[in-house]
Amino acid sequence: MKIHRQRLKWMEQLLADRFGKSWLITEKSSSLVLELQGEAGGVVFDQLEKAFMQTGVPVQLGCEWWLIDNKWTSPVDESRLPAPSSAPLSLPLIHLSQNRATCHYDILGLAFWAMNRLEEIGSVNLDSHDRFCASESHAEKFEYLNRPLVDEWLHILGQVISTVWPQIELKENTFDFLLSHDVDRPSRYGFQSAKGLIRSMAADFLKKRDYRTVFIGPLVRLNTKQALHPKDPFNAFDWMMSQSERAGVQSTFNFISDTNFGQHEAGYKLEYPAIRSLIRTIHERGHELGLHPSYRCYLQPERIQHEFIRLKQICQEEDVMQERWGGRMHYLRWSQPETLRALDGVGLSFDSSLGFVDKAGFRCGTCFSFTPFDALTNESFTLREQPLVVMEASILSERYMGIRDSAQALTMMEDLKGKCRKLGGGFSLLWHNSELWHKSQRDLYCEVLDL
Ligand SMILES: [Zn+2]
Repeated sequence: MKIHRQRLKWMEQLLADRFGKSWLITEKSSSLVLELQGEAGGVVFDQLEKAFMQTGVPVQLGCEWWLIDNKWTSPVDESRLPAPSSAPLSLPLIHLSQNRATCHYDILGLAFWAMNRLEEIGSVNLDSHDRFCASESHAEKFEYLNRPLVDEWLHILGQVISTVWPQIELKENTFDFLLSHDVDRPSRYGFQSAKGLIRSMAADFLKKRDYRTVFIGPLVRLNTKQALHPKDPFNAFDWMMSQSERAGVQSTFNFISDTNFGQHEAGYKLEYPAIRSLIRTIHERGHELGLHPSYRCYLQPERIQHEFIRLKQICQEEDVMQERWGGRMHYLRWSQPETLRALDGVGLSFDSSLGFVDKAGFRCGTCFSFTPFDALTNESFTLREQPLVVMEASILSERYMGIRDSAQALTMMEDLKGKCRKLGGGFSLLWHNSELWHKSQRDLYCEVLDL
């Protein structure tokens, strides 16, 4: 197998990011050899997995489970580690001799394959919003989506590295809680036509049996001119910022900046005085603003560019300056690698779209931010990807996992956040302002923040 030099370079960069130091990876007679600059010794990976270098659904790729032998420690206290593989594992998996180690599992190939989403490239099995869902993924088929398996394998590799080169000190990674909110609907009743208002009120009254909407609806609509109305059920912004500040977390609010109203688009315009005022307040309170590219544009770089320029323009008019701008695609619409190319091309510093809509977990096999790679052109991107671990709706909504029991939902989020913490990675949580209507939602939200 001849692996493109740029792919090996990407792996070297990944290790430098994760462990510090400067690494060299070379391919020698069907093995990858990992060396540390300026030091003798090496780690050999002698069972390279072809499927990890190929795009599309990996038909031959099954999954073995490595029973971690007692020489090594699982960072997340698990006894077995999923090992996507087309052949049974050769055991013992890791062989040590003097200043060398041989690993019979292709850890670096796995990282390349999972993080750069090779299985999604060219996939036609998409949902009604053209999304590649968890249900189509290798991780879900083999039941390891709740495992940040690349990070777990790299942790094992870190232990191997420390055995081969005991004199060096590897970088310590520290946990980060990345909290963000996509502003799809900042107001329940405020920006609607008279007809739309009646429809929303009727729906709320019938579905939620909440008679207060009859009074609140018209009041909110009438008074949402300069600022969002405090009684607006979607206006949770002040409360959310207070919770973030209490928990010592910075929130990122991603705004849609398209000017078209449509079925799946925003129900607001950035120019509305109430939205301008919200943007100002978010900035003044020390939180961050981001771009939420609209529904139609995940394959249209020029449209993303237009929306990004518009957001920055409005922010500038409100004296909001930021050093970096990140974003997330509306509806998590994504095509690998086209959407990445588009976001990278407009100059966003980072993206946080890569979580599956239908199930929480580790779509990229990692909770760490990383520099993604275009497997079709063999080039690294500039922007960073910060994979999304949990979107509240993936767990709570009837359309997806549909977990209605708060305690069960909390246990699931606790498990995922705990794994990110143990690994020193990032727990990226998306919670919409429109999903904090009820006390039970707010209680759950606070509990997740405090975990
Ligand atoms: Zn959205």
